[in-house]
Amino acid sequence: MEPAETTVRAVRDVGPDTVAIDLASPAGFAAEPGQFVKLTAVLDGEEESRFYTVSSPETDDAFELTVSYDADEAGGFSEYLLALDAGDAVTVTGPFGRDYYEGEARSLVLAGGPGVGPAVAIAERALRDGNEVTVVYRDDAPVHEDRLAAAASAGAEVFVLGDDDAVREAVADAYDGQQLFVYGFADFVDLAEASVTAAGGDLDGAKVESFG
Ligand SMILES: Cc1cc2nc3c(=O)[nH]c(=O)nc-3n(C[C@H](O)[C@H](O)[C@H](O)COP(=O)(O)OP(=O)(O)OC[C@H]3O[C@@H](n4cnc5c(N)ncnc54)[C@H](O)[C@@H]3O)c2cc1C
Repeated sequence: MEPAETTVRAVRDVGPDTVAIDLASPAGFAAEPGQFVKLTAVLDGEEESRFYTVSSPETDDAFELTVSYDADEAGGFSEYLLALDAGDAVTVTGPFGRDYYEGEARSLVLAGGPGVGPAVAIAERALRDGNEVTVVYRDDAPVHEDRLAAAASAGAEVFVLGDDDAVREAVADAYDGQQLFVYGFADFVDLAEASVTAAGGDLDGAKVESFG
């Protein structure tokens, strides 16, 4: 897909140092939960791009991205995103990525930090499809708590965890051969993969997207 200009519908706080950005879907745009897009902006005269993962279960009319930032020293691109308002134009390219939800009957989603975006998207879509889904989410300051609670009420198994040992234990409890999804920065991806291996699991066929 060529870069397309689209419009911000809303920017909402969804927890500590995290915003959800709703964008109108450009004509012909369709993404599955777990795919990501590239946002591009000119900052200080230089063109800059960053990748963000779709955090809404559907993209028919609009789609959501979940962006975490460092409140003490937000990078230039994060500052640009935080300053966006409804009606602003943004340049989006995509979707990209092959590690996305494809209607699997049983899913185990391991998410660290902003990896919660694809986790809630997959959980909501899987529940709508009548499929089984477990989310193991590691964050010191969890976000999207209302959507995680709603997913749990609707039948998902949801673990929101504040330390690495708890992730290892939750994966040991929850893993029983489901389709694995892993989303987050590299440190979390390493923890998730080690937890699956320690639980006797197999990473062949796992869908893993590292955020860098
Ligand atoms: C395929 C892909 C998908 C991505 N999807 C998302 C997404 O859905 N949401 C999202 O927020 N980001 C996502 N990212 C990361 C995003 O593209 C930026 O790299 C990130 O937001 C940093 O932005 P910044 O340069 O403005 O830096 P900063 O403002 O300095 O960083 C923003 C936030 O990212 C954290 N961060 C940056 N690098 C790391 C790291 N290595 N380990 C742990 N935390 C780190 C910072 O602590 C801070 O909270 C994705 C990256 C890739 C490659």
